[in-house]
Amino acid sequence: MSMSVPQHILNALTDVDMPRLTTAPKAAQHMTVAGFDIPVFRTGSLVIGSGAAGLRAAVEMKRRRVDVTIISQSAWGGTSACSGSDKQTLHTANTKDQGDNFQAMAAAIRGGGAMDEDTAYVEAVGSIRAMASLQYLGLPLPQDDLGGTLRYQTDHDEVGRATSCGPRTSRLMVKALAEEALRLDIPFYNQTTAVKVLTEGQGDQGRVVGVLAIRPTTSSDANPYGLALFQCAALVFAAGGPGELYRDSVFPNGCFGSLGLALEAGLELVNITESQFGIGTRREGFPWNLSGTYVQVIPHIYSVDADGHEHHFLGDYYRTTQEMASNVFRKGYQWPFHASRMLDFQSSLVDLAIFKESKKGRRVFMDFNRNPLPVPGDQPFSLDRLDDDVRSYLTHAGATQATPIDRLRHMNPLAIELYKRYKVDIVADPLEFAVNNQHMNGGIAVDTWGRTNIAGIYAVGEAAGTHGATRPGGSALNAGQVFGTRVAEHIAASKHGQTPPSADVSGPTADALRDIEVTLQSASPIALRNVRAEVQARMSDHAGILCTPQGVASARKEAEKLSDLIRQNGISFARHSEVGRALQWQQMALASQAVLTALDYYIAQGGGSRGARAICDPDGAALPQARSGPLPDVRFRPEREEDKQTQIFIRLQNGEMTITTRPNRKFDANAKSFFERDWPAWLTGGIYDLKSGGA
Ligand SMILES: Cc1cc2nc3c(=O)[nH]c(=O)nc-3n(C[C@H](O)[C@H](O)[C@H](O)COP(=O)(O)OP(=O)(O)OC[C@H]3O[C@@H](n4cnc5c(N)ncnc54)[C@H](O)[C@@H]3O)c2cc1C
Repeated sequence: MSMSVPQHILNALTDVDMPRLTTAPKAAQHMTVAGFDIPVFRTGSLVIGSGAAGLRAAVEMKRRRVDVTIISQSAWGGTSACSGSDKQTLHTANTKDQGDNFQAMAAAIRGGGAMDEDTAYVEAVGSIRAMASLQYLGLPLPQDDLGGTLRYQTDHDEVGRATSCGPRTSRLMVKALAEEALRLDIPFYNQTTAVKVLTEGQGDQGRVVGVLAIRPTTSSDANPYGLALFQCAALVFAAGGPGELYRDSVFPNGCFGSLGLALEAGLELVNITESQFGIGTRREGFPWNLSGTYVQVIPHIYSVDADGHEHHFLGDYYRTTQEMASNVFRKGYQWPFHASRMLDFQSSLVDLAIFKESKKGRRVFMDFNRNPLPVPGDQPFSLDRLDDDVRSYLTHAGATQATPIDRLRHMNPLAIELYKRYKVDIVADPLEFAVNNQHMNGGIAVDTWGRTNIAGIYAVGEAAGTHGATRPGGSALNAGQVFGTRVAEHIAASKHGQTPPSADVSGPTADALRDIEVTLQSASPIALRNVRAEVQARMSDHAGILCTPQGVASARKEAEKLSDLIRQNGISFARHSEVGRALQWQQMALASQAVLTALDYYIAQGGGSRGARAICDPDGAALPQARSGPLPDVRFRPEREEDKQTQIFIRLQNGEMTITTRPNRKFDANAKSFFERDWPAWLTGGIYDLKSGGA
């Protein structure tokens, strides 16, 4: 890309307007439960969340004549609408040159281990359809003159399966899908937060019957919390990831996800030990990921202490200027922190160094107007003295300008434009950033149709735990599209979502209300802002990129204590408009307890450093080195092969977190389909594996 891209094109890809929502239908009736006058909305199928995954599920259902409704805490909130990076990535099978190999792609998707093999294949083979249908809806993915999609290489991607519309790929996806949802006239209730799932029957024999939500516009003297009942026969969790779990976070504000809601409903979670951490600007300002060209142009990275002194701290870690600069560049496509990349002076030493500077209370910046300072005693930075892969990339990209900002202007002017929209001018000023939590790989456990352990409940997108310990960049967005479609196919085949249910659900509603009132205690000594501060600090301090067995074990105990205290005292709130937040923080306390319980279990079993966490241990076999010598405080346990073969599941049973494990589901890569043999299963719906109850 060069500067010749006209401003209106840059504007269209960075300043993406969302469609206007239409007025949602009124309640079918009202129901009085425990003195509350609650509006009742009836729908065959309900989707919680209007990110890219939820909208995909809703649109695909409606096309199959499912009676579907969307509720959303914030229509254009969440990560899909509000997050991105220099080139926000969609990972799909390569459609250029000689095409792709789905088996190889599936192997790459599950390459980090702890992922079901059939799920990886589903995501690989489904990616073509996910991408093509987005293009059909108008998503402007870049093509060459013969129709091939332009590709590049990203995290955990050796082939180059990444493509992008620019910084705001996922917002453009939301826009295209939302326009389709509106065109299809899908009822959409904005500012409506699910707080309780209603089921009938016990445990895994249960079946969903509805959701209790907080919808402030329905509040009245007879309904002071603004409760709303959505009665449904099928339910899709698409509430995104639990961004509010961490203090140091690049998630947009207000991303709570649904792990606590799911645990309370009896749903099983998987792989919630696995998250992504990496460099970005924090949500206190404008939260944005700093991978790709932001670092490939090799800006000067430095810190500033309380007295205003600058520190060239990366120079203390790498042995030569060339090594330092080349590893800053590699953060472009080795974005997530990975413990093993702290070794041998690789790229995660950059994250470690930044993390340690932040711990010292220093602020860390990227300066696009300065090339990196030299490592003390070594030669100055030069584009001619870079590792071969780095020099060759920059040369091919034509990024040989004298300063990082000119290289960025040349390679990706959208990256500059984007920050400008949020009043951050990286042409003029250095950019403050940090190592942050960005994504949860785990979530609600689902099978290859997106089904959970409770009949009628499905999960898609970041709410679902479909990824393993690592994932290729862009595969989160792909997984949401593929599973959104599969869930819709399954719900349509089950016939459960065809018409609104009419059974009496006052029993489960009364039970849910009782639980809610236990939490909402205006006189409780536990204020919701204190719950937030405690949970976020504990997660960032003890479950970030560097963990210790003792730190995690004691954090787990503290998390249990907090959940117990909330159970006994509830959470206080100042006004009725805080009721939804109070309930969400009670659920976040549970979610954090679940993550720490699973992590503690993993570490206690001898689990090694995998994905985005280093398990620091004085007896660990791996010892990162810096220019100044070994770094014994981050000696860590290496990854164990056996941990790649299994997954950790957790659920809440009788108030206790219970853990189980199972090996990854296998997939026979040599099995061949045979048209005449396999056709009947498609024709009769056999492929959906419908149980006698229909789901
Ligand atoms: C900075 C950043 C950069 C990223 N870059 C990439 C990338 O390049 N490629 C990639 O594949 N992934 C990337 N990701 C991850 C990816 O963006 C997310 O995994 C994905 O957008 C999640 O989509 P979703 O539809 O599942 O959830 P979201 O888009 O988060 O949507 C969740 C929806 O649920 C609603 N909601 C939440 N709770 C409730 C509730 N209780 N009741 C009702 N509604 C609720 C929210 O309002 C929202 O509408 C990035 C993430 C971040 C933070």
